[in-house]
Amino acid sequence: MSRLPAGVLREAQIDTSAIADNVRQLRRLIGVEVIAVVKADGYGHGALRAARAALEGGASRLGVADIAEGVALRRAGITAPILAWLHAPGASFVEAAALGITLGVSSMAQLLAAAEAASADRPTIVHLKLETGLGRNGVAPDDWKTVLAEAARFERLGKIVVEGLFSHLSNTSPEDDLVAVAEFEEGVAAAVALGLTPALLHIAATQAALSMPQARFNCVRLGIGIYGLSPFDDRGPEAFGLRPAMTLRGAVAAVRRVPAGHGVSYNYTYRAPETTSLALVPLGYADGVPRAASGRASVAIGGRRYKIAGRIAMDQFVVDVGDDPVQVGDEVVLFGDAARGVPTARDWAEASDTINYEIVTRIGPRVPRVQVSS
Ligand SMILES: *Cc1c(COP(=O)(O)O)cnc(C)c1O
Repeated sequence: MSRLPAGVLREAQIDTSAIADNVRQLRRLIGVEVIAVVKADGYGHGALRAARAALEGGASRLGVADIAEGVALRRAGITAPILAWLHAPGASFVEAAALGITLGVSSMAQLLAAAEAASADRPTIVHLKLETGLGRNGVAPDDWKTVLAEAARFERLGKIVVEGLFSHLSNTSPEDDLVAVAEFEEGVAAAVALGLTPALLHIAATQAALSMPQARFNCVRLGIGIYGLSPFDDRGPEAFGLRPAMTLRGAVAAVRRVPAGHGVSYNYTYRAPETTSLALVPLGYADGVPRAASGRASVAIGGRRYKIAGRIAMDQFVVDVGDDPVQVGDEVVLFGDAARGVPTARDWAEASDTINYEIVTRIGPRVPRVQVSS
């Protein structure tokens, strides 16, 4: 039986070589420049380590949502181009521009802020985001002409460089995404007609990058795939030669022998069907283990699967291990690489009516991330 090091309650092992290998593999499959998306602390894996591993694997750029995420990467020594695309109302871009962070620009107000953030010898680098149907941010088609023309004017004045144009897809269906791609191509044509010469065009995230060659243009923004998880409902990461980078595990914190009928956890939603052993696992919803998976998800201990018994609490949950010789300190794997015979983030997502993205991203700050390399 695998055991955790003494004194360790819980940890998320992050296999950085898996991230580098996944990027290499995705580059092989997709064949265009990769912006590795490391927002939300690298989908819970650690933004800095994910960034380093992705760059090592051949990503040429990084993507984040908030400017603060990009600033943290710069301050930690990352010199690769970083694109940030979600901005606070009225945000100044001065610090971001000074740090060489590329700004996703979704409105005239943001365009003006980008121009204002330029210094005499340094235009602000922007990627203009075009709304093509998702209904989030991005310049609306009715405003394309005005905003693109103003961008071209700022570029001629040396205030900005429009390095890229981008958009984002809904993944509703191939048909819906192709309509958005066609809309994006119209936006690109409008930009070119106004004198812009964007070097980078990107609309695809992992799903479209893998499944829709028409959406690849010359650059893609890859998040979930670099962490070795699949965005598809019907295909796992192994279908693309990817492997999950995160393994979430804990140490059995207590084992208790109980008689038939003994209640388990809050509200006794589970009662021991017969004399059995209960193993206590020290991870709970404070650690990002979804409470909705109570009584539904399974864990692996010593190569066997055990379903969660009763409610997941803030810090812990219980599994019924029957008469198996489970001991305090044994390794409990909540999820990891299916190739190791353990449950996956997808299994947890299905048990809690969500998606694998949410499972890894919500792993809480109380869970130490421990870097491993395979
Ligand atoms: C999060 C995000 C991505 C990455 O999406 P994945 O499905 O994880 O590959 C790409 N682009 C934008 C704008 C995003 O917000």
